[in-house]
Amino acid sequence: MPGFELFGDAERKEINDVLESGVLMRYGFDAMRNGHWKAKELELELESQLQVKHAQLVSSGTAAVTIALASAGIGAGDEVIMPTFTFVASFEAIMMLGAIPVLVDIDDTLTLDPEAVKNAITHKTKAIMPVHMCGSMAKLDDLQAICKAHNLILIEDSSQATGATYHGKPLGSIGDLGCLSLDYVKIITCGEGGAVLTNNEEYYKNADHYSDHGHDHIGNDRGVEMHPFLGYNFRISELHAAVGLAQLRRLDEFVAIQKRNYTIIREALSVIPEVTFRTVPEGGEESYSFLSFFLPDLETARKVSEAFKQNGVDACFHYYDNNWHYVRKWEHLKDLKTLYPLSQEVNDGLKYLQTKEFPQSNHYIGRNISCLIKLSWTEDEVKERANKMVKCIKEGLS
Ligand SMILES: *Cc1c(COP(=O)(O)O)cnc(C)c1O
Repeated sequence: MPGFELFGDAERKEINDVLESGVLMRYGFDAMRNGHWKAKELELELESQLQVKHAQLVSSGTAAVTIALASAGIGAGDEVIMPTFTFVASFEAIMMLGAIPVLVDIDDTLTLDPEAVKNAITHKTKAIMPVHMCGSMAKLDDLQAICKAHNLILIEDSSQATGATYHGKPLGSIGDLGCLSLDYVKIITCGEGGAVLTNNEEYYKNADHYSDHGHDHIGNDRGVEMHPFLGYNFRISELHAAVGLAQLRRLDEFVAIQKRNYTIIREALSVIPEVTFRTVPEGGEESYSFLSFFLPDLETARKVSEAFKQNGVDACFHYYDNNWHYVRKWEHLKDLKTLYPLSQEVNDGLKYLQTKEFPQSNHYIGRNISCLIKLSWTEDEVKERANKMVKCIKEGLS
């Protein structure tokens, strides 16, 4: 990760197809487009590679989460359970619909703790949204059982785990709905883009219409299409889809490169007894986009993280001290700093964040370092990097 590292001729060829006709929009202009429908083709490719009946491409991963929730009828005052460790998009997407994000502890998988999820369910809960952070997954069997028992919708955010599988199934295809980001730093990039995945016809139709102003997409004259319900513009452009099409065809190749690089580093770190690795749920296989490990305590993790920076070991994250991915520093959310007034329901629903502590999440994130696994590294570069990392960790421990 990220796929842009291996941007090349295949991507350029797909983009040129679009530039030659000049049709940059995914809908309409049938006569002008020389038979190129890049967004449609990319959706078919997603359906086949991720083994899901329907894929709806949209403008971003954040939009994909909002659309997935809206497609399942989630909105004002509904509670959506999400993890304390995720990208800010998770709560943004929930709040966009007037729904309430309920932040819940993670466990040693670095994703939602099923026990903590159970304890957070109220009569307002409508959905559980695990976020498969850093290339690996939540305990989906347990979460599915909870959803079934409480009649809740399971929405997977697999933006960071495209290419990973659980009991042989691609992540994102397992819940009622799945969401992907195809932004510039993800394993498969469109530049900017996202996708909603589902096996449910109704949710798919909703996502298709909602992401394009409620258009029903019947016939080939946009001007006379009907609007069964209100929508918004979350469309992707043909140019973006063209890039993603070339990239997605290389998913297996990308995952194999990551696996090679990940394995070299993991084996090197494994000789240090104090280092433990994040738990991957039984039946799961990572996408190998990150190597995530734990050190004995917060202080050591801080020391090692600093040593990595000093020694040129880039792209390693100590999320405890990071502003983007962990609840500890989401002051703008806790203080509800918005440009516009929020509903009373959301204001009241988020008051808990001003006082709530997450000691269990701190216990894991405080000790965790996650290192991005790049596609462009040579084997020698990976080995050199692994040696540097071992040295920094040993010094941090002494
Ligand atoms: C990147 C990311 C998103 C948002 O995707 P954008 O395409 O950048 O809007 C959502 N969730 C997770 C976990 C992500 O990593």
